[in-house]
Amino acid sequence: MPELPEVETIRTGLEKHLIGHRILGVEVSVAKIFPQGKEKLVGGNVISVRRLGKVLIVDLDNGFSFLVHLKLTGQVVFSSPGFPNQPNKFTHVVFSLDKGSKLFFNDSRKFGWIKVEKTTDVAKEAFVAKLGPEPLRDLTLERFVKLLSASRRPIKILLLDQTKMSGVGNIYANDALWLAKIDPRRPANGLASKEAETLFGAILKVLKDGIKYQGASDQWYVTAEGKKGSYQEHFLAYGTQGKLCVRCGKAKMQKFFLGGRGTYACPVCQK
Ligand SMILES: [Zn+2]
Repeated sequence: MPELPEVETIRTGLEKHLIGHRILGVEVSVAKIFPQGKEKLVGGNVISVRRLGKVLIVDLDNGFSFLVHLKLTGQVVFSSPGFPNQPNKFTHVVFSLDKGSKLFFNDSRKFGWIKVEKTTDVAKEAFVAKLGPEPLRDLTLERFVKLLSASRRPIKILLLDQTKMSGVGNIYANDALWLAKIDPRRPANGLASKEAETLFGAILKVLKDGIKYQGASDQWYVTAEGKKGSYQEHFLAYGTQGKLCVRCGKAKMQKFFLGGRGTYACPVCQK
């Protein structure tokens, strides 16, 4: 699933390409992805592209916005005469734009969604209203430490809970815990304050690296330009099962499941 760095990379791309375009029409071929409100977007000019957690928000000058969640396999791809991209068999929504441009929403698994809201109501939208603070924005170290001390859940499961903190998903949680040398199974409230501080720094570091490399394209993710990111070439722990830990060199990375999600850790240096 695209996480904060992937969605932020898409946001940056849309900010560059989409702002200033007028929406001429919206075609929806899978109704559950975009069930209602498309007519409210027609005629609107894109004025800003924001992100809250893993949700993209495109604001128009007519008082409406649309929210996009990519879930597991969603893609948002821009196309213009100078930057052509084609729809494919997973293209379920097509925004026709002025100046011969288009915006495609592609989604193989069809778990993604698009919703229309008044711009003034975006923060009250049910999904957005539940999002916790996010690293790199409003989650402070102090708040992070409090969050950990209030939970007995395994630390990795807590990191993935979007209502506690938003933006971190399975890839970056695995990598941050490896970087902080913390066993993903430990109860969150069992971390010493020094460890919590180290982990907080590790989360910021991996998210920034993710953004620097334009996200991780190990599966479906592509940028708004339809290109792959390269963070997958820099994974620290995610997907490394069976390989020697690159830090200690003493053990092979293990894979196990925690809360149903693939978890990768070094049995020697993550304690
Ligand atoms: Zn190790």
